[in-house]
Amino acid sequence: MTCAEFERTSAFLDGELDAHASVEAERHIAGCQECQAFAASAAALSDALRAPTMRHHAPPALRGRILAEITRAAAPSPARPRPRATFLWGALSGAGATSLAAAALLVALIPPSASTLAVGLVDDHVRALDRGALVAVRSSDHHKVKPWLASHAPLSPPVTNFAAQGFPLLGARVDKVRGRPMAVLAYAQGAHEIDLYVWPAEGPAPPPSAERHGFHERAWTRGDLRFAAISDVSPDALTQFVGLVQQAGE
Ligand SMILES: [Zn+2]
Repeated sequence: MTCAEFERTSAFLDGELDAHASVEAERHIAGCQECQAFAASAAALSDALRAPTMRHHAPPALRGRILAEITRAAAPSPARPRPRATFLWGALSGAGATSLAAAALLVALIPPSASTLAVGLVDDHVRALDRGALVAVRSSDHHKVKPWLASHAPLSPPVTNFAAQGFPLLGARVDKVRGRPMAVLAYAQGAHEIDLYVWPAEGPAPPPSAERHGFHERAWTRGDLRFAAISDVSPDALTQFVGLVQQAGE
């Protein structure tokens, strides 16, 4: 980092600044590419740390002991009248609350990172499978699917049926992923489903290839559109499907 304000930016991201310094730090970050990049990488790291693989559940015995300790500590003690509650209130009403507010504001300012988007896409695909609601318009005819998307989605993506190549078009839906409305084309391969997400190429691009909960994800950008294909088909089958979609758009 070469930015002279780097230390203040770092302190701001850690919630260590008071209200006045936070406002100044925010103003600086808004105009400094270096500090924006640092804030984005901090957000990506935070995403990685929040990943389910990083979460570990306490064994029931430990959980029980901690809960008992919390209950005991929360009970009023006649010897010492609520010193902890007073301290906690003081911390929350003073600098602590300012830091919390600053951190919350920054989270609102930083767009969802690439990894957050990739996770959101897989989660959306799994939710659609769970609900059995893969398509809002059920048709393999692009003359029917394309106009439906044009009137329901913020974009009109290319629509091709790949039934002859083993990937019949099932239909389409529109879903919001991390706040972005996306056109979703649903395809089948045997008993498996493939969701093809298409959205305007703004903001972060998901990584070109990712795996999550046994689902494979391939993403790419063409012109002013981003694409992501998500499925539990074999990686080879998904690569073949992506090849077909990319050729069809040329
Ligand atoms: Zn800076």
